Amino acid sequence: MVRLILDSASGSYPVVIGTNLQRELRAAVTRLQPTGVAIITDTNVRPWAVKVVAKAVKRSGLKTAIHTVPAGERSKSMAQLHEVLAFLERERIDRGGCVIAVGGGTVGDLAGLAAAVWQRGVRLVAVPTTLLAMVDSSIGGKTAVNGTRSKNAIGAFWQPSAVISDLASIDTLPAASYRDAFAEVVKYAVAMDRGLLVLLQKERERLVSADKAMLERVVFRCVAAKALVVAKDEREKGPRAILNYGHTAGHALESASGFRVSHGRAVAFGMRVAARLAYSMDLCSKRLVETQDELLNAYGLPARVPHVDPKRVMAAISFDKKARRGKVAWVLPRRLGRAEIGHAVPGALVRRVVTKALG
Ligand code: NAD
Repeated sequence: MVRLILDSASGSYPVVIGTNLQRELRAAVTRLQPTGVAIITDTNVRPWAVKVVAKAVKRSGLKTAIHTVPAGERSKSMAQLHEVLAFLERERIDRGGCVIAVGGGTVGDLAGLAAAVWQRGVRLVAVPTTLLAMVDSSIGGKTAVNGTRSKNAIGAFWQPSAVISDLASIDTLPAASYRDAFAEVVKYAVAMDRGLLVLLQKERERLVSADKAMLERVVFRCVAAKALVVAKDEREKGPRAILNYGHTAGHALESASGFRVSHGRAVAFGMRVAARLAYSMDLCSKRLVETQDELLNAYGLPARVPHVDPKRVMAAISFDKKARRGKVAWVLPRRLGRAEIGHAVPGALVRRVVTKALG
């Protein structure tokens, strides 16, 4: 088991990573001395939330209720937010209460936003149950539901009081979800942490088979990498943009494909594009492009993606929400373990690289 303390402008909180963390969870919740506890989960995770999380919390004698939303991204909606808030009201969760989000990034984002707005903010404990949520979405305090047309349009920054990443929950995770999360792991490695990159190269077998001791090390390094930038830039005014490595072309492919291409596959595509742009602009070596390709292939994120019209991907890139005054700011790798934010790239070069990457 490992424990980190994360610093942010709005306070510090512990992140615990390990296997079978019922005791740590109970301690984290009890420390908050909540007047009531509301667990939010989804239909797939509910059995684990009941058996492990609710049981652990109830043992401390706290009043605990569970609300379950349908599994999947569609639950990141105003309608489900309304349901969650109505549940908190029914359960009389007051300002001293606590919300526990048990699930992947979907539940984390939804329950996090509910915690941010209910009674103008109640404490939140995150219990991420997907690898993506452990390495990414549970850290950093971004919460949101989707608008009618745009993703994550309605949200708030709301830091949790504790994050308990119990790797035992990963056992039931669908293989595709586990594999996709490695796109974000490779992102941290290439953009920020060369040591993690070496670990990923050396320990592929153990990581692909979800070896818990090795996962603990990897999740720890990803959380530490994200924590560093979040501490400097909680509200994404600058340095936090490094976390968008691979996401400019990635998000564009995801939306241009009508979300047929999963987020992980799309981010892997986006990293391949970004590295090729950097190489064409003499910003990085060919070796970097090749090493990243090899790593993505090794973790089941191959170069081939379903056919999508390059024009649609280009159009989506120009709509990138991080674009400022019409200029897309690219995050480009300089060397293994270090990327830079804010690069302008000529449109013709982007078009050429994107078209080639789409095959
Ligand atoms: P998810 O939460 O939708 O989970 C994927 C699927 O796995 C769901 O069907 C879920 O029910 C199921 N599942 C979850 N845990 C399980 C388990 N242990 N065993 C079996 N099934 C399980 O998806 P995700 O990939 O975790 O998160 C994606 C969401 O996270 C997106 O909405 C994205 O926008 C958001 N996100 C947020 C941030 C942030 O900073 N807030 C960062 C990255 C992603």
